[in-house]
Amino acid sequence: MTPATLIDTFGRQHRDLRLSLTDKCNLRCTYCMPEDFAAWTPQAKLLTRHELVRVVRTAVDLGITSVRLTGGEPLLHPEVVEIVRDIAQLPNAPAISLTSNGLLLAQLAKPLREAGLQRINISLDTLDARRFAQITKRDRLAEVLAGIAAAEEAGIRPIKINTVLMRGVNESEAGDLLRFAIASGWSLRFIEQMPLDAGGVWSRATMVTAEETLAALKSEFELTPHGVRGSAPAEEFLVDSGPATVGIIASVTKPFCGNCDRLRVTADGQVRNCLFARSESDLRGILRDAKLTEDQRTSAIAEVLGLSVRAKLQGHGIGDPLFLQPIRPMSAIGG
Ligand code: SAM
Ligand code: SF4
Repeated sequence: MTPATLIDTFGRQHRDLRLSLTDKCNLRCTYCMPEDFAAWTPQAKLLTRHELVRVVRTAVDLGITSVRLTGGEPLLHPEVVEIVRDIAQLPNAPAISLTSNGLLLAQLAKPLREAGLQRINISLDTLDARRFAQITKRDRLAEVLAGIAAAEEAGIRPIKINTVLMRGVNESEAGDLLRFAIASGWSLRFIEQMPLDAGGVWSRATMVTAEETLAALKSEFELTPHGVRGSAPAEEFLVDSGPATVGIIASVTKPFCGNCDRLRVTADGQVRNCLFARSESDLRGILRDAKLTEDQRTSAIAEVLGLSVRAKLQGHGIGDPLFLQPIRPMSAIGG
């Protein structure tokens, strides 16, 4: 039976789909994957452009109103522009956004914008080239900055920057990053480091908490709580009375599961109802089952999405002593 909507047993209506285009990446951020990471998903298991858009079409029919393309690095997908265009041309097209490390934006920002990309989040943890190379294992800060400039030039607004602070690495740069972001017209959000890396380097004892980030910022800026959070993960603050703001995402220390409206589909076609889920539901088999008619396929995809949403737990439970890190790393889930 086709469920009419994506409402879970806690009454949360799911409207936001995080769609991973690939698990591959051209950086090796320490909090995400080890430098010698090689456990990539075989190409044959990755959903094709047509399959990815097919999933989005059914999800939109079930009430999804925004789609964020992610990865790995989504801009490494050779058909990323076409995927954006296909989604933008669906009936009841959702808002389309993308999370990227920015490396390939210099070439892709304009075509992506023209294809229908509305918003972008770019990851940037430092403004120092040497530190960038230390964090990402690649000496490519200049390309990221050129990519951000290209996104601005292409008229993609707002430009949101995601920063993960790490103790003894870039935690001292919070104030400088915020000043630079404000001067550049970007909206900056600090994200707590989560236990999702392929190398298992995360430790609660050493992670920089949202409270510490706030305290560091408050020593340099006047911060005033701002706006209603709703389902947004970031708590927003006006900086020095505004209009500039800064966001703090306390994913670990102050989870925001109560209003979560996110559903995830990995690049190999597995539905996850939470970043930290321990189980997944397969869509790839349905997408590739030649015996199904198109109507049967639509019903089967809808059913899997609906069942996954209804199996969603109340929260991710990182605070629980029995918490286990998911087997899939962040790069293979899609942040
Ligand atoms: N490659 C793209 C990028 O870096 O923006 C998209 C995928 S990445 C997995 C999405 C976001 O997850 C990035 O902002 C990144 O900083 C964040 N991220 C990755 N690993 C993380 C972790 N262990 N804890 C918190 N955030 C993490
Ligand atoms: Fe790549 Fe993004 Fe992970 Fe960094 S955070 S290694 S850019 S997927």
